[in-house]
Amino acid sequence: MSANRVLVAGVEVSPDHFINNERVSSETTFEDRSPLDWNLKLADVARGGAVEADLAITAALNAFPAWAALTHSERGAYLHRLADLIDANVEKIAAVECLDMAMLEESLRLRVIGRGARNFRAYADLASQYQPRKWDSNTTHNTVLRMPAGPTVVITPWNAPFMLSTWKCAPALAAGNTVVLKPAEWSPLSCSMLMDLVLEAGFPAGVFNVVQGLGSEVGAALVNDERVRRISFTGSPTTGRYIGTAAASNLVPFTAELGGKGAFVVYADADLDAAAKKAAVMYDDAGQVCLAGTRLLVQESIQEEFLARFRSYTDEHIMGDSRDPTTTLSPLIHPTHFERVSDFVTRARVNGDTVIWGGEPLGEGLWYKPTLIAPKSNNSEIVQSEVFGPVLTFQAFRDESEAIALANSTKYGLSSMVWTSDQAKADRFGEQVRAGTIWVNCFLIRDLTAPFGGCGISGIGREGGDYALDFYSDLKTFQVKEETTHG
Ligand code: NAD
Repeated sequence: MSANRVLVAGVEVSPDHFINNERVSSETTFEDRSPLDWNLKLADVARGGAVEADLAITAALNAFPAWAALTHSERGAYLHRLADLIDANVEKIAAVECLDMAMLEESLRLRVIGRGARNFRAYADLASQYQPRKWDSNTTHNTVLRMPAGPTVVITPWNAPFMLSTWKCAPALAAGNTVVLKPAEWSPLSCSMLMDLVLEAGFPAGVFNVVQGLGSEVGAALVNDERVRRISFTGSPTTGRYIGTAAASNLVPFTAELGGKGAFVVYADADLDAAAKKAAVMYDDAGQVCLAGTRLLVQESIQEEFLARFRSYTDEHIMGDSRDPTTTLSPLIHPTHFERVSDFVTRARVNGDTVIWGGEPLGEGLWYKPTLIAPKSNNSEIVQSEVFGPVLTFQAFRDESEAIALANSTKYGLSSMVWTSDQAKADRFGEQVRAGTIWVNCFLIRDLTAPFGGCGISGIGREGGDYALDFYSDLKTFQVKEETTHG
């Protein structure tokens, strides 16, 4: 094995940056450990800073004109080759990502990593099918054209790092931009593996780069570089504010997909068993899912029956090693995050909120029991702030107007779910609840062409389908005087 490769889950992985199609190391490194066993150090990962940010953006800038000049189908061919290579390497990527961030290996293998391949295919095809908007007005023929915007910085969080990174990088590349991706420092390895596949797929040097390191160091250097023409960020509202400020100072368009505190509303006329079963899914991935419905709002006439069913589905969860196919609940990502989650529960108790179940760690590692809390009031911190752990709240409501008011009562607005057999009631919920995505009698079903993003502090801008391709492009209106002739 070469000096700059480490063995993780039996797979050789580079802990270095990938800039201009070459592996680049840094003078300093940071430790990457496994949440499945905190004593297990996976890698000393290159700790980039201003120098590496500059190198990567320079590479992306130099590669931009030629990449932008390709036709959609030429760029699409690269993206399709990359998608094929992801599919061929799903098992390896899943094994490494499982050790690195502890999502269930089976779920990574069967669903999450493959979604990365689908992202590249979908955007390759969508970009080439673009039909410019055309219309005539007074004396001109008008056409809207997309121009590739330029070097793009993509910054992603530690939960589902591979899928979330490809979700943003695929449309950026398909639109003709070159990319510098910075994955989160708590789960950096699967994005490094993606770069091996980029090389194998034959991407021109500098088109797709990865820099590793801390947000406050290399991340800050990237988003403050005035040569960058787009910034796409997924992470916490706190970091989103910082990046938004940097983007504003350089007048760079940016999108931010941020935290959530989704309402999970169950009306008395719902299929209670289906709703209760899905509520228990909110504990999946140790609750580290931005889209989760973490505030359970249940109509008071059925609250006891719902709670009993929900309890029995929660009890079916098996906490354990995420590599074991019988495990359904994984540990939290990092000791710092573990402390953050348990501090939330401690403060809730001090506040006078009632812990209905859970509310404590399980065993020695980073596992935290599925927890349900009845808040003292809707103003309790546990209702109003994103925990990003296996901690849900439970509140009863009397009628539709109270359900909608409670659903809209936080600063977040990423997603909400409603369970009812009454379509008209679901429609009213859809119209009146402020959220980027609303699911009726389901959860996490996504169409990649639909807009995705948040209201309030859950985000700015929309990605997904043409919304993403528009974001990664500069739109231009081409106006031709009516009597202009060819030739
Ligand atoms: P985070 O904001 O701490 O970090 C996200 C990324 O930003 C990391 O790569 C980090 O290194 C980088 N970063 C941190 N400070 C930076 C700075 N000053 N400049 C540039 N980059 C910087 O978030 P996290 O803890 O990694 O992720 C959890 C959060 O992400 C939760 O709030 C969750 O809801 C949210 N999230 C949202 C979505 C969505 O689609 N809306 C999806 C997944 C996660």
